[in-house]
Amino acid sequence: MNTLLELQKLDLKIQNRKARELEIPKQKDKYKIRRQRLNSELKASEDRSKTLVLEQRECEGEIEQRRAQIAKYDTQLLAVKKNEEYQALLHEIEILKKQISVKEERIIAILLEIDEANERLVEDKRRIEAELADIDGECKKIDDELAEAVKDREELEAQRVPLVSNIDPALLNRYDRILRSKKGGAAVVPLRGDFCSGCNMVIRPQIVNEVLAGEKIHACNHCGRLLYHAENFEKAVEAGASES
Ligand SMILES: [Zn+2]
Repeated sequence: MNTLLELQKLDLKIQNRKARELEIPKQKDKYKIRRQRLNSELKASEDRSKTLVLEQRECEGEIEQRRAQIAKYDTQLLAVKKNEEYQALLHEIEILKKQISVKEERIIAILLEIDEANERLVEDKRRIEAELADIDGECKKIDDELAEAVKDREELEAQRVPLVSNIDPALLNRYDRILRSKKGGAAVVPLRGDFCSGCNMVIRPQIVNEVLAGEKIHACNHCGRLLYHAENFEKAVEAGASES
């Protein structure tokens, strides 16, 4: 029973570590979200100047088209006989020239906007890259913490081996099964008067007497936990209590 209590003390510690191992990586979730946000911010900044460059090319293409059209009308002017046709062509050319100058003004504005966008991109990049590096550093710390926790737990698990070899296999089996079913709780609990301290139900007097005598190992018939008499294992109980 003493060894079993020691084993339980160790197992509860191991369970505690395992729970921590599951919690530690969750700290990275907020960094994942921040990283995504920064990356889309960077992309938006890059897209701003790309979009402007595209618009500039579009304007240049439209100017080219209109110049070609003007050249065509210029040639037609030479062949035109009627004055109305001549005037109509001149009017068309005039409209095209106005459209060209509107596009040219837009290109000048775009070039300024591109300069601004590029300056902003340089700043954004510097800031975002620094923030991403910070995040990488924080995530590395979390990974290290997890590696440390795993190592810690593995050391505890190694301590299990000599304890387990001293326990009757049938009892060990029973203990393991109860511990698994009590997810995080104790599998071996002290009697409190004639109550089971695991589930607070009354235990039959005959069983209580046998547990007090330390003759047999009994399970609580309500919750299935193994029962022991605390005073028989004062030391083990004290050690166990400091862990919970
Ligand atoms: Zn019980």
